[in-house]
Amino acid sequence: MKTVWEKYDEKQLKKVMDLSQDYKQYLNRSKTEREAVKEAIKLAEKAGFSEFKKNKTVKAGDKLYFNNRGKSLVLFVIGKKPLEEGLNILGAHIDSPRIDVKLNPLYEDNGLVLMDTHYYGGIKKYQWTARPLAIHGVVVKKDGKKIDICIGEKEDEPIVEISDLLIHLAKDQMAKTGANVVEGEDLNALVGSIPAKSKKEEKEAVKKNILNILKKEYGFEEDDFISAELELVPAGKARDLGLDRSMIMGYGHDDRICAYTSLRAILETEKPERTSACILTDKEEVGSIGSTGAQSAFFANAIAELLNKEGSYNDLKLRHALENSRMLSSDVSAAFDPNYPQVNDAKNAAYFGKGISFNKYTGSRGKGGSNDAPAEYIAKIRNILDKNDVSYQFTELGRVDQGGGGTIAYILANQNMDVIDAGIAVQNMHAPYETASKGDIYEAYRAYKVFLKEMK
Ligand code: MN
Ligand code: MN
Repeated sequence: MKTVWEKYDEKQLKKVMDLSQDYKQYLNRSKTEREAVKEAIKLAEKAGFSEFKKNKTVKAGDKLYFNNRGKSLVLFVIGKKPLEEGLNILGAHIDSPRIDVKLNPLYEDNGLVLMDTHYYGGIKKYQWTARPLAIHGVVVKKDGKKIDICIGEKEDEPIVEISDLLIHLAKDQMAKTGANVVEGEDLNALVGSIPAKSKKEEKEAVKKNILNILKKEYGFEEDDFISAELELVPAGKARDLGLDRSMIMGYGHDDRICAYTSLRAILETEKPERTSACILTDKEEVGSIGSTGAQSAFFANAIAELLNKEGSYNDLKLRHALENSRMLSSDVSAAFDPNYPQVNDAKNAAYFGKGISFNKYTGSRGKGGSNDAPAEYIAKIRNILDKNDVSYQFTELGRVDQGGGGTIAYILANQNMDVIDAGIAVQNMHAPYETASKGDIYEAYRAYKVFLKEMK
Protein backbone atom coordinates (compact mmCIF):
# COMPACT_ATOMS: atom_id res chain seq x y z
CA MET A 1 0.00 0.00 0.00
CA LYS A 2 1.69 3.19 -1.23
CA THR A 3 1.48 6.31 0.93
CA VAL A 4 2.49 9.90 0.32
CA TRP A 5 5.66 9.34 2.31
CA GLU A 6 7.12 7.23 -0.51
CA LYS A 7 6.74 9.99 -3.10
CA TYR A 8 8.33 12.90 -1.22
CA ASP A 9 11.92 13.95 -1.82
CA GLU A 10 13.89 15.97 0.75
CA LYS A 11 12.58 19.26 -0.54
CA GLN A 12 8.94 18.20 -0.49
CA LEU A 13 9.35 16.64 2.93
CA LYS A 14 10.54 19.98 4.25
CA LYS A 15 7.46 21.66 2.79
CA VAL A 16 5.23 19.08 4.50
CA MET A 17 6.88 19.73 7.85
CA ASP A 18 6.87 23.51 7.43
CA LEU A 19 3.15 23.58 6.62
CA SER A 20 2.45 21.49 9.71
CA GLN A 21 4.49 23.86 11.87
CA ASP A 22 2.36 26.77 10.59
CA TYR A 23 -0.82 24.80 11.12
CA LYS A 24 0.06 23.97 14.73
CA GLN A 25 0.56 27.70 15.38
CA TYR A 26 -2.85 28.47 13.90
CA LEU A 27 -4.49 25.67 15.90
CA ASN A 28 -2.92 26.82 19.17
CA ARG A 29 -4.24 30.32 18.65
CA SER A 30 -7.68 29.25 17.38
CA LYS A 31 -9.47 27.24 20.03
CA THR A 32 -12.84 28.92 19.46
CA GLU A 33 -14.67 30.07 16.34
CA ARG A 34 -14.02 33.68 17.33
CA GLU A 35 -10.29 33.09 17.75
CA ALA A 36 -10.21 31.18 14.46
CA VAL A 37 -11.76 34.17 12.65
CA LYS A 38 -9.37 36.60 14.31
CA GLU A 39 -6.32 34.55 13.34
CA ALA A 40 -7.63 34.03 9.81
CA ILE A 41 -8.10 37.80 9.36
CA LYS A 42 -4.59 38.42 10.64
CA LEU A 43 -3.14 36.00 8.10
CA ALA A 44 -5.40 37.28 5.33
CA GLU A 45 -4.41 40.91 5.85
CA LYS A 46 -0.77 39.90 5.82
CA ALA A 47 -1.47 38.27 2.44
CA GLY A 48 -3.02 41.43 1.01
CA PHE A 49 -6.72 40.88 1.79
CA SER A 50 -8.89 43.70 3.07
CA GLU A 51 -12.43 43.92 4.41
CA PHE A 52 -15.16 44.50 1.80
CA LYS A 53 -16.35 48.10 1.91
CA LYS A 54 -19.63 49.18 0.30
CA ASN A 55 -18.13 52.44 -0.97
CA LYS A 56 -15.09 50.89 -2.69
CA THR A 57 -14.87 49.53 -6.22
CA VAL A 58 -14.08 45.86 -6.81
CA LYS A 59 -12.00 44.56 -9.71
CA ALA A 60 -10.44 41.31 -10.91
CA GLY A 61 -7.55 40.22 -8.70
CA ASP A 62 -8.93 41.93 -5.58
CA LYS A 63 -8.66 40.01 -2.31
CA LEU A 64 -11.56 40.63 0.02
CA TYR A 65 -13.13 39.23 3.15
CA PHE A 66 -16.53 39.49 4.83
CA ASN A 67 -16.57 39.07 8.61
CA ASN A 68 -19.84 37.80 10.08
CA ARG A 69 -20.10 38.79 13.77
CA GLY A 70 -16.52 37.68 14.36
CA LYS A 71 -17.65 34.05 14.19
CA SER A 72 -17.65 33.18 10.53
CA LEU A 73 -15.69 34.50 7.61
CA VAL A 74 -15.84 34.42 3.82
CA LEU A 75 -12.83 35.31 1.68
CA PHE A 76 -12.78 36.02 -2.05
CA VAL A 77 -10.18 36.49 -4.74
CA ILE A 78 -12.05 38.13 -7.60
CA GLY A 79 -11.70 36.31 -10.91
CA LYS A 80 -11.36 37.56 -14.45
CA LYS A 81 -14.68 35.99 -15.48
CA PRO A 82 -18.05 37.45 -14.50
CA LEU A 83 -19.43 36.12 -11.20
CA GLU A 84 -22.49 34.84 -13.04
CA GLU A 85 -20.29 32.09 -14.52
CA GLY A 86 -19.78 30.70 -11.03
CA LEU A 87 -17.17 30.52 -8.31
CA ASN A 88 -14.73 27.89 -7.08
CA ILE A 89 -15.53 27.54 -3.41
CA LEU A 90 -13.72 25.96 -0.48
CA GLY A 91 -15.67 25.52 2.75
CA ALA A 92 -14.84 24.27 6.23
CA HIS A 93 -16.07 24.88 9.76
CA ILE A 94 -14.24 26.51 12.63
CA ASP A 95 -16.41 25.50 15.60
CA SER A 96 -15.39 22.35 17.49
CA PRO A 97 -16.97 20.20 20.19
CA ARG A 98 -16.36 21.68 23.62
CA ILE A 99 -17.94 22.43 27.00
CA ASP A 100 -19.85 25.74 27.09
CA VAL A 101 -20.36 27.63 30.34
CA LYS A 102 -24.05 28.14 31.24
CA LEU A 103 -25.47 31.65 31.59
CA ASN A 104 -26.11 31.24 35.32
CA PRO A 105 -23.10 29.06 36.04
CA LEU A 106 -21.57 29.73 39.46
CA TYR A 107 -22.53 27.95 42.67
CA GLU A 108 -20.95 26.91 45.92
CA ASP A 109 -21.20 23.39 47.32
CA ASN A 110 -19.48 22.38 50.57
CA GLY A 111 -16.77 24.98 50.30
CA LEU A 112 -16.06 24.41 46.61
CA VAL A 113 -17.14 26.69 43.77
CA LEU A 114 -18.24 25.12 40.54
CA MET A 115 -19.25 26.37 37.14
CA ASP A 116 -22.19 24.65 35.47
CA THR A 117 -21.89 23.83 31.76
CA HIS A 118 -23.79 22.63 28.72
CA TYR A 119 -21.71 20.67 26.25
CA TYR A 120 -21.59 21.66 22.56
CA GLY A 121 -21.55 19.06 19.79
CA GLY A 122 -21.37 15.29 19.97
CA ILE A 123 -18.95 14.17 22.66
CA LYS A 124 -18.20 11.15 24.79
CA LYS A 125 -18.75 13.10 28.00
CA TYR A 126 -16.46 10.95 30.13
CA GLN A 127 -13.48 11.97 27.95
CA TRP A 128 -13.70 15.55 29.20
CA THR A 129 -13.22 14.82 32.91
CA ALA A 130 -10.01 14.89 34.93
CA ARG A 131 -8.03 16.97 32.47
CA PRO A 132 -6.80 20.57 32.41
CA LEU A 133 -9.34 22.86 30.75
CA ALA A 134 -8.81 26.47 29.69
CA ILE A 135 -11.55 29.12 29.58
CA HIS A 136 -11.82 30.92 26.24
CA GLY A 137 -14.41 33.38 24.99
CA VAL A 138 -15.89 36.81 25.42
CA VAL A 139 -17.86 38.71 28.02
CA VAL A 140 -19.89 41.62 26.68
CA LYS A 141 -20.82 44.29 29.23
CA LYS A 142 -24.18 46.04 29.04
CA ASP A 143 -22.50 49.12 27.55
CA GLY A 144 -21.19 46.97 24.67
CA LYS A 145 -17.62 46.74 25.90
CA LYS A 146 -16.19 43.38 24.97
CA ILE A 147 -13.73 41.57 27.22
CA ASP A 148 -11.67 38.80 25.58
CA ILE A 149 -11.09 35.91 27.92
CA CYS A 150 -8.31 33.34 27.63
CA ILE A 151 -7.33 31.72 30.91
CA GLY A 152 -5.20 28.63 31.21
CA GLU A 153 -3.02 28.46 28.12
CA LYS A 154 0.16 29.94 29.63
CA GLU A 155 2.20 27.77 32.00
CA ASP A 156 1.64 30.09 34.95
CA GLU A 157 -2.09 30.61 34.43
CA PRO A 158 -4.65 28.58 36.38
CA ILE A 159 -6.80 25.95 34.68
CA VAL A 160 -10.15 24.44 35.66
CA GLU A 161 -11.31 20.82 35.55
CA ILE A 162 -14.37 18.62 35.60
CA SER A 163 -13.69 15.98 38.23
CA ASP A 164 -14.03 12.25 37.70
CA LEU A 165 -15.05 9.65 40.24
CA LEU A 166 -12.17 7.69 41.76
CA ILE A 167 -12.00 4.08 40.59
CA HIS A 168 -12.02 2.91 44.22
CA LEU A 169 -15.64 4.04 44.64
CA ALA A 170 -16.84 3.62 41.07
CA LYS A 171 -18.49 0.19 41.35
CA ASP A 172 -21.94 1.47 40.38
CA GLN A 173 -20.62 3.92 37.79
CA MET A 174 -18.53 1.29 36.00
CA ALA A 175 -21.64 -0.84 35.48
CA LYS A 176 -23.29 1.93 33.44
CA THR A 177 -23.16 2.17 29.67
CA GLY A 178 -20.67 4.60 28.10
CA ALA A 179 -23.35 7.16 27.29
CA ASN A 180 -24.31 7.44 30.98
CA VAL A 181 -21.00 7.01 32.78
CA VAL A 182 -20.93 10.79 33.11
CA GLU A 183 -24.25 12.63 32.79
CA GLY A 184 -24.48 15.96 30.95
CA GLU A 185 -25.79 17.78 34.01
CA ASP A 186 -22.82 16.52 36.04
CA LEU A 187 -20.27 18.31 33.85
CA ASN A 188 -19.46 20.95 36.45
CA ALA A 189 -16.06 22.57 36.47
CA LEU A 190 -14.18 23.19 39.72
CA VAL A 191 -13.06 26.81 39.92
CA GLY A 192 -12.18 27.67 43.54
CA SER A 193 -11.97 26.83 47.24
CA ILE A 194 -10.76 29.84 49.29
CA PRO A 195 -13.42 31.89 51.15
CA ALA A 196 -13.41 35.68 50.92
CA LYS A 197 -12.01 37.29 54.07
CA SER A 198 -14.68 38.91 56.22
CA LYS A 199 -15.34 39.82 59.90
CA LYS A 200 -18.67 38.02 60.15
CA GLU A 201 -19.44 34.57 58.81
CA GLU A 202 -20.82 34.89 55.31
CA LYS A 203 -22.91 32.63 53.15
CA GLU A 204 -21.17 31.48 49.94
CA ALA A 205 -17.91 33.14 50.91
CA VAL A 206 -15.91 31.04 48.46
CA LYS A 207 -18.12 32.05 45.57
CA LYS A 208 -17.77 35.64 46.72
CA ASN A 209 -14.00 35.33 46.56
CA ILE A 210 -14.20 33.97 42.98
CA LEU A 211 -16.48 36.85 41.99
CA ASN A 212 -13.95 39.28 43.51
CA ILE A 213 -11.22 37.71 41.38
CA LEU A 214 -13.35 37.90 38.21
CA LYS A 215 -14.03 41.57 38.92
CA LYS A 216 -10.47 42.47 39.79
CA GLU A 217 -8.54 40.45 37.21
CA TYR A 218 -10.96 40.25 34.30
CA GLY A 219 -13.30 43.20 34.84
CA PHE A 220 -16.72 41.53 34.93
CA GLU A 221 -19.41 40.61 37.43
CA GLU A 222 -21.77 37.70 38.00
CA ASP A 223 -24.58 39.29 35.95
CA ASP A 224 -22.26 39.58 32.96
CA PHE A 225 -22.21 35.79 32.47
CA ILE A 226 -25.61 36.32 30.83
CA SER A 227 -24.07 38.16 27.90
CA ALA A 228 -20.96 36.01 27.67
CA GLU A 229 -19.83 33.15 25.46
CA LEU A 230 -17.34 31.15 27.47
CA GLU A 231 -16.03 27.81 26.25
CA LEU A 232 -14.02 25.24 28.19
CA VAL A 233 -11.47 23.62 25.92
CA PRO A 234 -8.47 21.34 26.55
CA ALA A 235 -5.57 23.46 27.81
CA GLY A 236 -2.23 23.10 26.06
CA LYS A 237 -0.73 22.98 22.64
CA ALA A 238 -0.84 20.72 19.63
CA ARG A 239 2.13 18.33 19.51
CA ASP A 240 3.99 16.21 17.00
CA LEU A 241 2.92 12.61 17.37
CA GLY A 242 4.98 9.53 16.58
CA LEU A 243 8.72 9.05 16.94
CA ASP A 244 9.00 9.94 13.25
CA ARG A 245 6.95 13.12 13.84
CA SER A 246 4.62 12.13 11.00
CA MET A 247 1.40 13.11 12.79
CA ILE A 248 -0.09 15.90 14.91
CA MET A 249 -2.23 15.51 17.98
CA GLY A 250 -4.24 18.55 18.98
CA TYR A 251 -7.58 19.92 20.07
CA GLY A 252 -10.01 20.92 17.32
CA HIS A 253 -8.57 19.35 14.15
CA ASP A 254 -12.31 18.96 13.39
CA ASP A 255 -12.48 21.12 11.44
CA ARG A 256 -9.77 23.73 11.76
CA ILE A 257 -7.45 21.35 9.93
CA CYS A 258 -9.53 21.78 6.75
CA ALA A 259 -10.20 25.44 7.58
CA TYR A 260 -6.50 26.26 7.81
CA THR A 261 -5.50 24.38 4.66
CA SER A 262 -8.41 25.93 2.72
CA LEU A 263 -7.46 29.36 4.06
CA ARG A 264 -3.81 28.89 3.06
CA ALA A 265 -4.91 27.86 -0.43
CA ILE A 266 -6.97 31.01 -1.01
CA LEU A 267 -4.34 33.26 0.59
CA GLU A 268 -1.88 31.98 -2.01
CA THR A 269 -4.27 32.41 -4.96
CA GLU A 270 -3.47 35.17 -7.47
CA LYS A 271 -5.64 36.42 -10.32
CA PRO A 272 -7.82 33.32 -10.85
CA GLU A 273 -10.04 32.84 -13.91
CA ARG A 274 -13.15 32.04 -11.85
CA THR A 275 -13.63 33.90 -8.58
CA SER A 276 -12.21 31.94 -5.63
CA ALA A 277 -14.07 31.78 -2.34
CA CYS A 278 -13.32 30.29 1.05
CA ILE A 279 -16.09 29.90 3.61
CA LEU A 280 -15.07 29.41 7.25
CA THR A 281 -18.33 28.72 9.01
CA ASP A 282 -19.59 28.35 12.57
CA LYS A 283 -22.19 26.03 14.19
CA GLU A 284 -21.54 22.94 12.04
CA GLU A 285 -21.35 20.75 15.12
CA VAL A 286 -24.91 21.68 16.10
CA GLY A 287 -26.57 21.62 12.68
CA SER A 288 -25.17 24.67 10.84
CA ILE A 289 -28.02 26.77 12.20
CA GLY A 290 -28.28 30.48 12.96
CA SER A 291 -26.82 33.64 11.50
CA THR A 292 -23.23 32.35 11.60
CA GLY A 293 -23.91 28.77 10.43
CA ALA A 294 -23.73 27.51 6.85
CA GLN A 295 -27.51 27.80 6.46
CA SER A 296 -27.30 31.57 6.96
CA ALA A 297 -27.88 33.91 4.00
CA PHE A 298 -24.50 35.44 4.74
CA PHE A 299 -22.61 33.80 1.87
CA ALA A 300 -25.26 34.51 -0.78
CA ASN A 301 -25.51 38.08 0.53
CA ALA A 302 -21.77 38.53 0.08
CA ILE A 303 -22.01 37.36 -3.55
CA ALA A 304 -24.91 39.76 -4.06
CA GLU A 305 -22.70 42.59 -2.80
CA LEU A 306 -19.97 41.58 -5.25
CA LEU A 307 -22.44 41.32 -8.14
CA ASN A 308 -23.62 44.78 -7.26
CA LYS A 309 -20.03 45.98 -7.53
CA GLU A 310 -19.81 44.40 -10.97
CA GLY A 311 -22.54 46.91 -11.74
CA SER A 312 -25.13 44.35 -12.68
CA TYR A 313 -26.91 42.91 -9.71
CA ASN A 314 -30.20 41.14 -10.15
CA ASP A 315 -31.64 38.08 -8.51
CA LEU A 316 -31.30 35.92 -11.61
CA LYS A 317 -27.57 36.65 -11.81
CA LEU A 318 -27.19 35.67 -8.18
CA ARG A 319 -29.01 32.36 -8.89
CA HIS A 320 -26.69 31.78 -11.86
CA ALA A 321 -23.57 32.59 -9.85
CA LEU A 322 -24.59 30.02 -7.22
CA GLU A 323 -25.67 27.27 -9.57
CA ASN A 324 -22.59 27.59 -11.77
CA SER A 325 -20.33 27.27 -8.73
CA ARG A 326 -18.30 24.24 -7.71
CA MET A 327 -17.38 23.45 -4.15
CA LEU A 328 -15.12 21.31 -2.02
CA SER A 329 -16.96 21.10 1.27
CA SER A 330 -14.20 20.03 3.60
CA ASP A 331 -14.57 18.31 6.90
CA VAL A 332 -12.59 15.68 8.72
CA SER A 333 -13.16 12.04 7.85
CA ALA A 334 -12.65 8.96 10.03
CA ALA A 335 -9.13 7.53 9.68
CA PHE A 336 -8.72 3.77 9.85
CA ASP A 337 -7.70 2.81 13.37
CA PRO A 338 -5.99 -0.57 13.90
CA ASN A 339 -7.44 -0.62 17.42
CA TYR A 340 -10.98 -0.60 15.99
CA PRO A 341 -10.83 -2.19 12.52
CA GLN A 342 -14.32 -3.65 12.90
CA VAL A 343 -16.14 -0.34 12.29
CA ASN A 344 -14.75 0.05 8.76
CA ASP A 345 -15.10 -1.54 5.39
CA ALA A 346 -11.37 -1.82 4.68
CA LYS A 347 -11.80 -1.23 0.93
CA ASN A 348 -13.53 2.09 1.51
CA ALA A 349 -11.83 3.34 4.66
CA ALA A 350 -9.61 6.45 4.84
CA TYR A 351 -5.99 5.76 5.75
CA PHE A 352 -3.34 8.05 7.19
CA GLY A 353 -0.81 9.08 4.58
CA LYS A 354 -2.93 8.33 1.54
CA GLY A 355 -3.81 11.95 0.86
CA ILE A 356 -6.97 14.04 0.95
CA SER A 357 -10.15 12.01 1.50
CA PHE A 358 -13.25 12.47 -0.62
CA ASN A 359 -16.70 11.21 0.33
CA LYS A 360 -19.14 11.02 -2.56
CA TYR A 361 -21.85 10.78 0.10
CA THR A 362 -21.99 10.88 3.90
CA GLY A 363 -25.13 10.39 5.98
CA SER A 364 -26.30 7.34 7.91
CA ARG A 365 -28.82 4.46 7.58
CA GLY A 366 -28.87 4.22 3.81
CA LYS A 367 -27.12 7.55 3.04
CA GLY A 368 -29.83 9.46 4.95
CA GLY A 369 -29.18 13.18 5.15
CA SER A 370 -26.24 13.13 2.76
CA ASN A 371 -25.12 15.23 -0.14
CA ASP A 372 -24.38 12.92 -3.06
CA ALA A 373 -21.83 14.36 -5.47
CA PRO A 374 -22.60 13.65 -9.17
CA ALA A 375 -20.22 11.19 -10.87
CA GLU A 376 -19.59 13.76 -13.62
CA TYR A 377 -18.28 16.24 -11.05
CA ILE A 378 -16.10 13.59 -9.40
CA ALA A 379 -14.57 12.79 -12.78
CA LYS A 380 -13.53 16.43 -13.21
CA ILE A 381 -11.95 16.47 -9.77
CA ARG A 382 -10.01 13.24 -10.44
CA ASN A 383 -8.73 14.73 -13.65
CA ILE A 384 -7.38 17.88 -11.99
CA LEU A 385 -5.80 16.05 -9.06
CA ASP A 386 -4.10 13.42 -11.24
CA LYS A 387 -2.70 16.08 -13.55
CA ASN A 388 -1.12 17.77 -10.53
CA ASP A 389 0.06 14.59 -8.78
CA VAL A 390 -2.08 15.23 -5.69
CA SER A 391 -2.64 12.11 -3.58
CA TYR A 392 -6.27 11.36 -2.76
CA GLN A 393 -8.54 8.57 -1.59
CA PHE A 394 -12.26 8.01 -2.03
CA THR A 395 -13.72 6.79 1.22
CA GLU A 396 -16.78 6.25 3.39
CA LEU A 397 -17.22 7.07 7.05
CA GLY A 398 -17.40 3.57 8.54
CA ARG A 399 -19.28 0.38 7.73
CA VAL A 400 -22.81 0.57 6.42
CA ASP A 401 -25.24 0.86 9.37
CA GLN A 402 -22.42 1.44 11.88
CA GLY A 403 -23.25 5.13 12.28
CA GLY A 404 -22.37 8.08 10.09
CA GLY A 405 -22.21 11.82 10.03
CA GLY A 406 -23.26 14.97 8.22
CA THR A 407 -21.48 18.09 6.98
CA ILE A 408 -22.30 21.44 5.37
CA ALA A 409 -22.08 19.93 1.85
CA TYR A 410 -25.84 19.48 1.32
CA ILE A 411 -26.59 23.06 2.37
CA LEU A 412 -24.58 24.63 -0.44
CA ALA A 413 -25.68 21.88 -2.82
CA ASN A 414 -29.25 23.06 -2.14
CA GLN A 415 -28.28 26.19 -4.09
CA ASN A 416 -28.00 23.85 -7.06
CA MET A 417 -24.22 23.81 -7.26
CA ASP A 418 -21.84 20.85 -7.54
CA VAL A 419 -20.51 20.00 -4.09
CA ILE A 420 -18.43 17.12 -2.83
CA ASP A 421 -17.29 16.26 0.68
CA ALA A 422 -13.53 16.41 0.97
CA GLY A 423 -11.17 16.63 3.91
CA ILE A 424 -8.50 15.16 6.10
CA ALA A 425 -8.86 11.88 7.97
CA VAL A 426 -8.43 11.99 11.75
CA GLN A 427 -8.37 9.46 14.55
CA ASN A 428 -10.31 10.05 17.80
CA MET A 429 -12.71 12.49 16.15
CA HIS A 430 -14.50 14.67 18.75
CA ALA A 431 -12.21 13.57 21.57
CA PRO A 432 -10.40 16.36 23.45
CA TYR A 433 -7.34 15.53 21.37
CA GLU A 434 -7.55 14.33 17.78
CA THR A 435 -4.81 12.95 15.53
CA ALA A 436 -4.02 13.62 11.87
CA SER A 437 -1.25 12.85 9.40
CA LYS A 438 1.04 15.64 8.22
CA GLY A 439 1.18 14.10 4.76
CA ASP A 440 -2.60 14.35 4.42
CA ILE A 441 -2.55 17.97 5.57
CA TYR A 442 -0.08 18.79 2.83
CA GLU A 443 -1.98 16.93 0.12
CA ALA A 444 -5.27 18.60 1.12
CA TYR A 445 -3.63 22.01 0.90
CA ARG A 446 -2.30 21.14 -2.56
CA ALA A 447 -5.69 19.82 -3.66
CA TYR A 448 -7.39 23.07 -2.57
CA LYS A 449 -4.86 25.17 -4.46
CA VAL A 450 -5.25 23.34 -7.75
CA PHE A 451 -9.04 23.25 -7.32
CA LEU A 452 -9.22 27.03 -7.00
CA LYS A 453 -6.95 27.46 -9.96
CA GLU A 454 -8.12 24.83 -12.41
CA MET A 455 -11.73 23.80 -11.73
CA LYS A 456 -13.98 24.97 -14.54
MN1 MN B 1 -16.54 18.54 11.27
MN1 MN C 1 -17.48 17.22 13.98
